[in-house]
Amino acid sequence: MAVFYRRLPKFEYLQPDSLEEVLSLMSANREKAKIAAGGTDLIVQLRRREIPTPDYVLDIKKISLLKNLTADQQGLKIGALVPIAEIAASESVKKNFQALAQSSINIASPQIRNRATFTGNICNAVPSADSAPPLLVLDASVKLKSVKGERSVPIAEFFTGVRKTAISPDEIVTEIFVPQPASGAKSIYHKHSQRHSMDLALVGAAVYSIKEGDTCREIRIALGAVAPTPMRAAKAEKILSGHKVTQQLIDEAAHSAAAECSPIDDHRASAEYRRDMVQVLVRRALTEILL
Ligand SMILES: Cc1cc2nc3c(=O)[nH]c(=O)nc-3n(C[C@H](O)[C@H](O)[C@H](O)COP(=O)(O)OP(=O)(O)OC[C@H]3O[C@@H](n4cnc5c(N)ncnc54)[C@H](O)[C@@H]3O)c2cc1C
Repeated sequence: MAVFYRRLPKFEYLQPDSLEEVLSLMSANREKAKIAAGGTDLIVQLRRREIPTPDYVLDIKKISLLKNLTADQQGLKIGALVPIAEIAASESVKKNFQALAQSSINIASPQIRNRATFTGNICNAVPSADSAPPLLVLDASVKLKSVKGERSVPIAEFFTGVRKTAISPDEIVTEIFVPQPASGAKSIYHKHSQRHSMDLALVGAAVYSIKEGDTCREIRIALGAVAPTPMRAAKAEKILSGHKVTQQLIDEAAHSAAAECSPIDDHRASAEYRRDMVQVLVRRALTEILL
């Protein structure tokens, strides 16, 4: 426990006034600079010496253009500084992006949700990040900016390993874009943790689907905390896609999802238990939105 009371290591704390200033500091300092959004992951990691101490911590909270949450016919734009609590409270998120609303309300506590951001959650890139499975099934993309320009990375290509992402050392994330789901589409997120939402997910499962009559026209299934990166369960999707939905087919798909993930044994749960819970959560999510 003593580790929690360690002093912060020494670094220079900067609060740039503009995005241009942030980008030019990132370009000049690259790995030696670290962005702080809500700081709920970063400060803990610095205190515990889990990451190399940067020369500069760039607190970006003064950049007001990163604070916008907007929804229109194209989709949802989540600025890099939008707190998770705002996403959880948004009527348009609750109505059209149900899996995102369910994951937001299941992250940490109200205090943390008031500070922490979805962007920080994906940039931290732990396999259990609760925002990741919903963003995967909703086909989100991540907008990255540097002094050299802007690019957009599909969320499916964003996570490259445990705590590793496609962000270059001189780039920052400015926005997460979630396209408007097709008419009639539904999505759902289930999280299983040890006791309550303050605990990280042992397993997270998100499902997106469109049904036409009895037939599953489109299906996406994503899992968190059961592989080095959040993942799509492609074989399970194939079992259902284009077929008449039955409980038997749902059971088969849930079984397949459990077989395609690669969970680890650790102090929080065994791999076997996690695999069993994948099957339970995927079956529950599919049953809820397809039957
Ligand atoms: C008590 C507690 C409970 C928690 N419970 C959960 C939980 O249930 N589920 C869960 O998923 N997480 C949980 N977390 C983890 C954490 O709160 C989330 O990951 C949070 O979303 C991080 O957002 P932040 O804005 O605080 O990120 P920060 O700590 O500011 O940043 C995190 C990382 O992202 C980088 N970063 C941030 N913004 C940008 C940007 N715009 N561009 C480039 N890099 C950037 C930072 O440099 C840092 O490496 C918990 C944390 C605590 C302390």
